[in-house]
Amino acid sequence: MSTSMDPDSVDGDFADGVLTTAFFVAWFDDIAEQVRLQRERLTALDAAIGDADHGTNLDRGFTEVGKALTESPPASPGQALLSAGTTLIRRVGGASGPLYGSAFRAMGKAVEAPVTLARFAAAFDAGVVAVEQLGKAVPGDKTMVDALVPASRALALAVRDGVGVGEAFELAARAAEQGARATIPLRARKGRASYLGERSIGHEDPGAASSALIVASLATVATAAS
Ligand code: ADP
Ligand code: MG
Repeated sequence: MSTSMDPDSVDGDFADGVLTTAFFVAWFDDIAEQVRLQRERLTALDAAIGDADHGTNLDRGFTEVGKALTESPPASPGQALLSAGTTLIRRVGGASGPLYGSAFRAMGKAVEAPVTLARFAAAFDAGVVAVEQLGKAVPGDKTMVDALVPASRALALAVRDGVGVGEAFELAARAAEQGARATIPLRARKGRASYLGERSIGHEDPGAASSALIVASLATVATAAS
């Protein structure tokens, strides 16, 4: 067998638009780094409309994800996603652990190698659907769904338009960031922030902010690899 034909043997990049196992590991590395850097910001957002633990929850969770991926290197993109999701469910208390954990697990189950942009977009959407099913939130409820749904839509449009991986991830990152900012004037209808009623208005949702960060990491890693 010619190893040059095996997309998973391509180390750390996405030759021919294929996302390798190394790409997914690099994605989780970058998420962990960004969460660490933005831990105080995420916690401050959660202090305003929640219980001030979102940054620490995710920092602990994604640090554990990094350890798990190092201790048991995944053999496929699906394994990397399943490992990350299981770790988040086990290690992160609060709403966001099970929600993000279920999202990555659903992505891992849905994804098929070799992971083209179209397959990634389909798997990402399966992850978003998992969040919607578990949390029962819809767009406009002021949750992570408000960043994730626009990101998924942007990926689907990028696939339709034949856009390259790097540009597709940039478009998704921008859509997620806009979605997160658009939560500021909303009144929370799900999660802890909903207990505040009207007083949740005027603050960015912490989970939408972390979702924007997670999607931004896709673009960062794709750019670094190209
Ligand atoms: P907790 O609210 O239990 O302290 P975190 O602070 O880690 O958990 O996460 C809070 C974030 O989780 C919220 O900002 C919101 O984006 C997200 N969230 C909470 N409940 C739901 C839900 N039912 N559906 C979708 N997202 C939710
Ligand atoms: Mg919280």
